Amino acid sequence: QVRVRFAPSPTGNLHVGGARTALFNYLFARSKGGKFVLRIEDTDLERSTKESEEAVLQDLSWLGLDWDEGPGVGGDYGPYRQSERNSLYKQYADKLLESGHVYRCFCSNEELEKMKEIAKLKQLPPVYTGKWATATDAEVQKELERGTPYTYRFRVPKDGSLKISDLIRGEVSWNLDTLGDFVIMRSNGQPVYNFCVTVDDATMAISHVIRAEEHLPNTLRQALIYKALGFSMPYFAHVSLILAPDRSKLSKRHGATSVGQFREMGYLPQAMVNYLALLGWGDGTENEFFTLKQLVEKFTIERVNKSGAIFDSTKLRWMNGQHLRAIPSNELTKLIGERWKSTETVLYGFSFSFFRLFCWELICINLLEQEAIQLLKDGIDLVPDSDKALSNLLSYPLRDTLTSSEGKSIVEDNLSEVAAHLLAAYDGGELLAALEEGHAGWQKWVKGFGKTLKRKGKSLFMPLRVLLTGKLHGPDMGASILLIHKAGTHGIVSPRAE
Ligand code: GLU
Repeated sequence: QVRVRFAPSPTGNLHVGGARTALFNYLFARSKGGKFVLRIEDTDLERSTKESEEAVLQDLSWLGLDWDEGPGVGGDYGPYRQSERNSLYKQYADKLLESGHVYRCFCSNEELEKMKEIAKLKQLPPVYTGKWATATDAEVQKELERGTPYTYRFRVPKDGSLKISDLIRGEVSWNLDTLGDFVIMRSNGQPVYNFCVTVDDATMAISHVIRAEEHLPNTLRQALIYKALGFSMPYFAHVSLILAPDRSKLSKRHGATSVGQFREMGYLPQAMVNYLALLGWGDGTENEFFTLKQLVEKFTIERVNKSGAIFDSTKLRWMNGQHLRAIPSNELTKLIGERWKSTETVLYGFSFSFFRLFCWELICINLLEQEAIQLLKDGIDLVPDSDKALSNLLSYPLRDTLTSSEGKSIVEDNLSEVAAHLLAAYDGGELLAALEEGHAGWQKWVKGFGKTLKRKGKSLFMPLRVLLTGKLHGPDMGASILLIHKAGTHGIVSPRAE
């Protein structure tokens, strides 16, 4: 059975790199009908915090990556926090001691430092050369009686090489002569990271270890421990790094990098998931739009790319727009409407003019919400952008418009002629009557209006748009006018209010 795990260290927020690793594990498990295990690697007691564990769990849930075993869910292979598994590590460390794969090392820190210095002078790799690898039982016994502190040191085979086959990188091999015996348990009884990971992966029956490329060097030590414990090795798949556009490692200085930051900026989880999947994976076609469900259907580890993926926040934003527009209209109305009702930013965006404040009230009572959202959604990528789009729609910056260079050319293009006729139509009531009839009424009126003026296309629509909305550009003019008019018929708004 396929069993994979995501094993975050709760020492900070969930980074997009970590989220992608979690996603690939999730997709692999779901596509194979396997299990997705969540394990908290909190062996670094000083840096691990409960808050950051909670934040990571929250981010994973927000992304929709539910786990089958782990904190909050339980499972047959728990506990799922390394800090709760110490007795297990001790048990396996002792097993290795008994089988001779591990020995007690009584070297003091000074002795170890000295070894390093000598190796440096001789330009040799800094491997352990102390006497405890070959000490006699009597020597060991003597130190034990003295109560000298000791570490558990793993005996690395002195020559030869070790090979693993990685599902993404192919064959990876290491020479063992530069590795040196390494510590698996400190003198205070604290097990060392690589040892914990191996014991956990083995005892949790993990079949595939999918993780970031930066863990590849750890795999060598872990593989040696697997062998020594007589466990069969899982398959490994090391996913490439996520890079910034300048190809350096993605970091804070490149802007937002944590899932929580993107959530706060108003990104949708489905867009995040889609974008993260494309960092190093594609289904082999031009298609880039996938829901989580579709990703589960399409994902294969063979299609994961070996080279580093570039994190492009502009593309992420674009992708968010794609997902936003894919939301069914009643849900989108709820999402944006809730925001309009609960946030003050819109009000500030409206700069407190009466016209806008009243219109805001109107939208609050659901009269125009649905129509406004449908009108605005094509022009925005993020839900929070809807605030600005709405206040833009309802603002009437005629002075700015007419003094801009594009505006000036429209004035020259006989704006006054159109204005005079428009005013007549307004005062004569034909315009309002047409608007009462909705879209069809508007279209009919515009057609007739153009005919009278012998204008069509841009020379008709640009002056009209300027006069009716105060702006040079915007969403569909007819729909905009109808919306503004609707607000007006409730006694509150008229396009001529300012
Ligand atoms: N705890 C490690 C990390 O957060 C992951 C180790 C692993 O996947 O083997 O980077």
